[in-house]
Amino acid sequence: MAQQTEILKQKNEYGYYEIRMESVGGQGANLAGKILADAGILHMGLNGVNFASYGSEKKGTPVKSFIKFSEPDRDIRVNSPVVEPHLLVVFHTNLAGKVAVMQGVKPGAAVIVNTPKKCDEVRDLLQVPGGVTLYCVDAMKISVEEKVRINTTIMGTICRAVDFLTKDAVHASIKDIFGHKYPHLLEPNLNAFERGHEEVDILEVPDDGKYPVQPFTPFRPKLGWKNAPIGGVIPNPGNTALNDMSMSRSGFYPVWHEDLCINCGECDSVCPDQAMIFVTRKDDKGEDKRFMTGVNLQYCKGCMRCVDVCPKQALTAERETE
Ligand code: SF4
Ligand code: SF4
Repeated sequence: MAQQTEILKQKNEYGYYEIRMESVGGQGANLAGKILADAGILHMGLNGVNFASYGSEKKGTPVKSFIKFSEPDRDIRVNSPVVEPHLLVVFHTNLAGKVAVMQGVKPGAAVIVNTPKKCDEVRDLLQVPGGVTLYCVDAMKISVEEKVRINTTIMGTICRAVDFLTKDAVHASIKDIFGHKYPHLLEPNLNAFERGHEEVDILEVPDDGKYPVQPFTPFRPKLGWKNAPIGGVIPNPGNTALNDMSMSRSGFYPVWHEDLCINCGECDSVCPDQAMIFVTRKDDKGEDKRFMTGVNLQYCKGCMRCVDVCPKQALTAERETE
């Protein structure tokens, strides 16, 4: 019997090519994983799985999306998270301060980063080990210009970095998702995909030992069945104070214009993250009154509800840059 030609050049001990995407809720990493898995399975005949891991459903919290591919004659029986990815995708560089994104990335792997920065700078920022191929793409800029989410732009870069994944297969998978439900979004998403494929800075990181490979360390919660407070109470109020929602913004942020604001509080009533900063001051009559003083951008996730609701256009959506 003729030997079947192998499609995957890189595989782990189980015969899988593995992708890990590090993202935040709302950036579309989960959907990107589904589209790419469909491309490999339905349009290239590979075996594959896609699944994601996240905490709360809330927009802005860290999300991991995993894809595994294997040859058509090898079933995928191991469904654990990807610890040593052949391809790592980082949807936002700020994630590096909260999540150990580079864990398990070894020489020979590829790393894609959504950033306006060049690869030389990103290499040091993320401490990318030697022997890795680094791809930097300004997916936010492209996506804002094409008026789509960043996931299709990043899929274009993924298609560039993964040698066996064909553009035709991913195009077909994007068409499957958008063509029926959202036909008006198909063309801009395909444009973003194409630009994500082409507008990439690529660096073969020299094997100089500057940053070591970070071994994968499984997450261990500090509280478990042995030591959690009885009744599941949270003894540390305000424990989300360090949460940073800025990563979930999609290229725009609300700008407050003090001269137009009438302190009506409409924006505060619709903001899902209590990002509006109000203080109590004396008004002209000497009475205590609440005054708007700005937006706390650490907690703002860029939903623009405040901009929509403001009766005086005292909040406007502006393009956000680095
Ligand atoms: S809704 Fe507009 S006018 Fe009202 S407090 Fe907010 S910014 Fe000011
Ligand atoms: S865009 Fe406005 S409503 Fe939405 S999170 Fe930011 S401040 Fe709140």
